[in-house]
Amino acid sequence: MIQSAAFIGLGAMGYRMAAHLPKRFDTVYVWNRNFSKAEQHAAEYGTQAAELNQAVQADVIFSCLPTSADVEALIENLAIKPGAIWIDCTSGVPETAQKLAQALKAKNVDFLDAPVSGQTIGAETATLTFMIGGDAQAFERALPAVQVLGKLIKHVGESGAGFAVKAVNNMLMAVNLCAAAEGFTALKAHGVNLNEALDCINASSGKSNATETILPQRVMNRSFPLTFALPLLAKDTGIAVDLVRQARLSAPVIALTQSLIQAASDTAAPNSDFSSAVKMYETWSKLTIE
Ligand code: NDP
Repeated sequence: MIQSAAFIGLGAMGYRMAAHLPKRFDTVYVWNRNFSKAEQHAAEYGTQAAELNQAVQADVIFSCLPTSADVEALIENLAIKPGAIWIDCTSGVPETAQKLAQALKAKNVDFLDAPVSGQTIGAETATLTFMIGGDAQAFERALPAVQVLGKLIKHVGESGAGFAVKAVNNMLMAVNLCAAAEGFTALKAHGVNLNEALDCINASSGKSNATETILPQRVMNRSFPLTFALPLLAKDTGIAVDLVRQARLSAPVIALTQSLIQAASDTAAPNSDFSSAVKMYETWSKLTIE
């Protein structure tokens, strides 16, 4: 019976996700590396700021850190409560999920890779999409807790499958973002009214999330609000490239997009939103998409 929950990593996503847990759980531990954020969360949402060793005594433990390496390093020396379920919402590496699931199984702890999509607004409104990999019975046990945070929740396969789906999703988003940046700098070079062009394309077959939301809400109004850091997107496209390589498939669009996003990330100002990737194209073309 799941009675207590914990959330580890109160970043842009985690801080908002953890805020919903007290609706269902009497005890909600929160932990963050910079501990003042955990204390702030406790004051704001009625959670309990806890040391890591205490937090992992919860029945269900969520984590949301930048990378799988961060999660692995954290888990290494922890005495997690036997019978607990660890739900890792990091956008991570499939092999690490497999490794952690196996290592924790030996300690009678289930590990699910449970990355999310829906951005910070989805975290805030508890409408995230969860793509979950791991043991089917553990998934069923975790479901009531995950439902507190998500809307569409899918078990997509064995350990690592959730991380794989997330990496491919973010790669598809990046492909569309690069293509939109190229298309719209071309239109600008030809003197086209970009707002009118955007309306036409969004009513036509070339539309994508990049044209429907990223360009109008982040790029063309020049706001580039930081909600999902560009290096995190570069990390995700890197995971997608690894998936393709491991399967010995040829995927030139994916490989090229990874190089572009990595280059954009390497040359961007610190704390740039993922939408800032288009600024690389703006520099190249000496044109702005506005
Ligand atoms: P943030 O950078 O906002 O937050 C990262 C969190 O991880 C912070 O709480 C940070 O703690 C903590 N952290 C960083 N490094 C370590 C470490 N080595 N050990 C322990 N804690 C650490 O990231 P996001 O919340 O944006 O992203 C988290 C994950 O969710 C990523 O994998 C990302 O790809 C994914 N994601 C993000 C989305 C978004 O829109 N932002 C959407 C969907 C998925 P501290 O406060 O001390 O720095």
